Formats: sequence, structure tokens, C-alpha cells
Amino acid sequence: MMTIMSSQFQPVLDSILAEIERTPGRGRSADYIPALAAFDPRRFGMAVAELDGTVYGVGDWQQPFSAQSITKVFTLALDLAREGDELWEHVGREPSGNPFNSLVQLEYEDGIPRNPFINAGALVVTDRLQTRSGDAAGELLSFLRAESGNLALDFDQEVAASETAHGDRNAALAHFMKSYGNIDNDVPVLLDQYFRQCSIAASCADLALATGFLARHGIRADGSRLLSRSQAKQVNAVMLTCGTYDAAGEFAYRVGLPGKSGVGGGIIAVVPGRCTLCVWSPGLDERGNSVAGVAALDRFTTLTGLSVF
Ligand code: GLU
Repeated sequence: MMTIMSSQFQPVLDSILAEIERTPGRGRSADYIPALAAFDPRRFGMAVAELDGTVYGVGDWQQPFSAQSITKVFTLALDLAREGDELWEHVGREPSGNPFNSLVQLEYEDGIPRNPFINAGALVVTDRLQTRSGDAAGELLSFLRAESGNLALDFDQEVAASETAHGDRNAALAHFMKSYGNIDNDVPVLLDQYFRQCSIAASCADLALATGFLARHGIRADGSRLLSRSQAKQVNAVMLTCGTYDAAGEFAYRVGLPGKSGVGGGIIAVVPGRCTLCVWSPGLDERGNSVAGVAALDRFTTLTGLSVF
């Protein structure tokens, strides 16, 4: 198998950008949160970060966008670091096969969500982090700032307000799980934390850098350890099996990397031991994954041979 040199990342990204620009049909921007509908679905950016923090990028790679569900990877890691395996008594780690905001499985599984990346599971993780840290969204923001080196990263108040105004489904999920004793905090407190978490605006460069600890087997940018090697493997595994809504099988088939998407059109991906990626293009397919984003990651692993398979 060929070995890709770091110096080849930039030409690979340049050729992916050229291909994406020639591709018609880019899906539709999310419109269930009005503040997200404003983005042109044809925008595109992509960044690759090496383990030492060197970043390569193309297109809109420095444009902040709404991180949304991508943040669920970081809250999972922060909570696992604090409480360890006890978390898994409150949230599972199996693909759900249902849409990200589905309620249906919760009743059969006693209020224990299938995995930490569907909304129900992410609410449980944020709830547990909130109980342990007193400010889950604040802890997340500090972590993202430290790992990306971008102290300007912040919540987007307009997106958070928009989500709050359209948050009935998430409120229903939280109340339902609380009725089973699987949510600790008051639901309005939890929803405020969760919506601020999802609203964080960050660029492909920021998010590729912030994901670096998963490629460094749990080691943060400053050399300290966040997760054990085994926990980092676990987070990568859950990303591979559950990270791209109910299309994780298709994503593994096409891209072959642990990845996590968000309805803002971003996708992060990990090549363990080698590099991390983030791609952004707001046009989504019917499952909620960025059309150009998946296509670009597919091309990246095809051109470089860098995949976990
Ligand atoms: N804040 C969004 C929600 O809970 C996250 C959606 C997503 O990116 O999957 O509806």
C-alpha cells in the first residue's frame, strides 16, 4: 500500500476541491432551525490536521459554521474522562437505525438511549457532564478553545435562541427520560446547556485541531492525557458505528473512518495515529449528512489510502 507524505495533503485537498466544484446537486441546508437555513448549500471547506497541529485547508476551511452534533463527540469524551465506565449504564453504544431525534426506542429500553450521538443519548451525556462540572457547555467551550488554539470560539446566541424556540422534540426526549430517572438536572437547565453546546460556531481548522486527541490516542494538544488509549478507541468505535445518523453503515462503506456529522453541514473524521479531518458544506442529504462532505471524505480516503480498513 502506498504511504502518503504530509507534503501531499495540500495537493490532495486541492484536487478534491476541484472535483467538488464540478459536482452538481449538493443537497439542502437544514431548515428545522431557521438560523441554519441561511447558508448557501454550495459552500465548501475542508481541513486536515496532523498530530503536531500542522493544518492544511481548502475552500471555506476558516469559515465558522454551526458545529451542532459534532459537539457530541467532545461532551462524550469530557464526560468519559470524568466518570469512566459508569456512563455506559445510562447510555448504550449500539447504532439506532432511527432518525437522530427519534423517541420510539426509549420506551422499550427503559429510558436508556441507544448511543451517545442520537439526541436522547447526547442529552444524557450533557446532563451527566452538567452534574459533574456545573457548566457542561462552558467546559466544552474551554476545551475547544484550548485544543484549537482559537480563543475567539464562542456560542452563537442566535442559533441557540432559534433552537430553544423550536426545541419541543428535545424537551420531550428529556422529560421522557427524566420520567425513567435517567436525567438528573431540571429539564430547562439541561436544554439550555444542550442548545448552547450545539450552537458553538467553529471552522474546519478549529474542529480538525480539536479532534486531534482522538488521533493521538487520548492525548491533548498540550501533551496531557484526556482519555486512556482504550477510551479513545471506544470513542472512535462509537463514531464509526453511530456517528453519521442512520447512515453510519453507508459512511463506513464509503469513507472507512470514524466520523461525526452535524446538521450545520460539518463532519469530523479521525485517522488514528495519523491525522484528523473536518469538512463543511451545508447541503444535507435526507439522512442529515453533508452531501459534498461525505463525497470529499470518500475521495480523501480513496486518494490517500488512509482509512481504518
Ligand atoms: N441541536 C440539534 C438538535 O438537537 C443537533 C442536531 C444535529 O446536528 O444532529 O436538534
